[in-house]
Amino acid sequence: MTVLVVGGGIGGLATALGLATAGQRVTVLEAAAVFEEIGAGIQVGPNGFRMLDSLGVGPVVRSRAVHVDELRLRCGVSGRVVASLPLDETFRTRFGTYAVVHRNDVLTPLLDACQNHELIDLRPNSGVTAYTQDASGVTAVLRSGDLVSGSALIGADGLRSAVRRQLVGDGDPTVSGHTTFRAVIPAPAVPAELKENVVTLWAGPHYHVVWYVIAGGRYVNLVATTDNAATEPMTGVPVEHADVMKHFTPLCPDARRVMELADEWRAWVLCDRAPITDWQDSRVVLLGDAAHPVLQYAAQGACQALEDAVCLTSAFDPRDVVGSFARYVAQRRERTARVHHASRSMGREVYHPAGEAAAARDAMFAAWGVADLHERLEWLYG
Ligand SMILES: Cc1cc2nc3c(=O)[nH]c(=O)nc-3n(C[C@H](O)[C@H](O)[C@H](O)COP(=O)(O)OP(=O)(O)OC[C@H]3O[C@@H](n4cnc5c(N)ncnc54)[C@H](O)[C@@H]3O)c2cc1C
Repeated sequence: MTVLVVGGGIGGLATALGLATAGQRVTVLEAAAVFEEIGAGIQVGPNGFRMLDSLGVGPVVRSRAVHVDELRLRCGVSGRVVASLPLDETFRTRFGTYAVVHRNDVLTPLLDACQNHELIDLRPNSGVTAYTQDASGVTAVLRSGDLVSGSALIGADGLRSAVRRQLVGDGDPTVSGHTTFRAVIPAPAVPAELKENVVTLWAGPHYHVVWYVIAGGRYVNLVATTDNAATEPMTGVPVEHADVMKHFTPLCPDARRVMELADEWRAWVLCDRAPITDWQDSRVVLLGDAAHPVLQYAAQGACQALEDAVCLTSAFDPRDVVGSFARYVAQRRERTARVHHASRSMGREVYHPAGEAAAARDAMFAAWGVADLHERLEWLYG
């Protein structure tokens, strides 16, 4: 009665841990040779932390996180502050923790807990190409040709999921036309006057730049995104500094100073997929980015993968795998679609508008107080 989880990223490991804690034997099939995340930061909202808490790893992730004081939106051209959301006692009392974390500081606690769990078998170098199933079980076909059988299979194999390719059959993800450049800067390189315990986002015409401190203050995470109508997918390709900077103009002096500190950039052309209503095939189901990949603009992809993991775990009944997966999909369908639409509209209406549209955004935020922002975030974080 082993459950197979394909993919050992944040979503896959969280699911394995949740199921094993409930007494289920789990085998995680990971394509890579090691379980690790790329060396970049991630924002984890209160909904994500609640899931980490319910999996038992919230305290250790919190202890490695940087607890920022504020989320701040600035105009990328003038540098003026457009909006501010204090992450203070009022915010924490209503919603909980919002913090920024090095990706491995989310993955490693999950990995440690999985490694220490006697019901979890972690198998690296086990890329899955396909599955077969009948009324009693599922078999995963590995790239090596080996077969691994279980009672159910959860495809948590990310944006380019092989499980999804077979289950949904909707081909490659949608290229958004937006390119993200990421860099990590050692914190000592940052001048004191630019070091603030804040997630700052500079929003300019067709671009935005986000930066914040990660890894206990040792590094600064820099993410610069432009909607440059890129047509070809790209994943972590090294790029020259000058080739990055030409996309970010006009840019206010503070943002420029920050970007000039980075010398090793990598580029991703962002992809997502339009929401679908069903991602189950009897004993096989999708989870996280494999099921509902989103643009990163609401900082929710990993948080949604964690919500999936906890939801699936609580819906799971080994005597009724098909019914369990149907309940999980039914519970997750509407919310994940809403996050998809919110992420896209954040990019269009808040992060990248130019001219009159940018002025309209500024007027909208000027009319809202912190209480209004809280009300608008209730559906997501509450
Ligand atoms: C620039 C950027 C910034 C982001 N910022 C945030 C943020 O601030 N907050 C947030 O919540 N989210 C953020 N996200 C989204 C987040 O990174 C993803 O949503 C999250 O990592 C998805 O987790 P996952 O486990 O579903 O997939 P993944 O992390 O992609 O893990 C999939 C795993 O499956 C493995 N795999 C792939 N194919 C196979 C196969 N065939 N067989 C076996 N294993 C396989 C992979 O090696 C990988 O380990 C951001 C994304 C980007 C691109």
